[in-house]
Amino acid sequence: MKTKPIIAGNWKMHKTLTDGISFVGKIRNRILDKEKVKVIFCPPFNLLFSIVDALDGTSFGVGAQNAHHESQGAFTGEISVEMLKSMGVQYVIIGHSERRHIFGETDGWINQKIHAVFNGELIPIFCIGETLEDRQMNRTNEIIHHQIKLGLEGVETIDSERLIIAYEPVWAIGTGETASNDQVEEAHGYVKTILDDMFGHSSGEIPILYGGSVNENNAAELIQTEGVDGFLIGGASLKEDSFCSIIAQVTNYNKG
Ligand code: PEP
Repeated sequence: MKTKPIIAGNWKMHKTLTDGISFVGKIRNRILDKEKVKVIFCPPFNLLFSIVDALDGTSFGVGAQNAHHESQGAFTGEISVEMLKSMGVQYVIIGHSERRHIFGETDGWINQKIHAVFNGELIPIFCIGETLEDRQMNRTNEIIHHQIKLGLEGVETIDSERLIIAYEPVWAIGTGETASNDQVEEAHGYVKTILDDMFGHSSGEIPILYGGSVNENNAAELIQTEGVDGFLIGGASLKEDSFCSIIAQVTNYNKG
């Protein structure tokens, strides 16, 4: 692993304000080894300001789950990168499979969002991944290639401090079914090859997270998989013991 491991928790549409603040307070008290691993909380929009405040002065990061590509305007229900930045948010998940498949986000739209996040000097956690049907039809590499090429179109240089990629096979998200080590290793290796082709040498340092039913029972094995620089976690990031256990396992591996 070339970078400090990253563990990002995607809360999706879970936790009220009280629950969220109490949750990060408990994690904050339990995670003593934070310099070994970067932990990022991605709560719903309405909690962002309070969570940033609750984590003030710590090394924990805070990310949003989405952003609109325009900086302002008549876009009811949307939020801009500028607004997120003004609250102290540092990261934005872009292109999550639920945004792509439930809300119809296209690669072109995701590309506009990626540019908006870069322009606003926040860090995108850019999600890619194939559906079960894609995998069964041996189209995994083709899909990943397509998503990265279109998602990063017009981006001239990338920097490992400014971009995170999350490989999340759609069939593994929230299903309890995790990709095998070989599948993860192959996909992460392929992502690196695409980034090398597009951006040259510097792309080798871009962190690539795995996401898809990561939990306290599979984290130790997954973090040792070649090319895995951390995790994007949904369900298990909502439970204090599970999330802390995953962080501890990643921390212990990183010590070795
Ligand atoms: C996700 O939502 O990005 C995710 C990986 O969810 P889960 O860990 O629940 O599969």
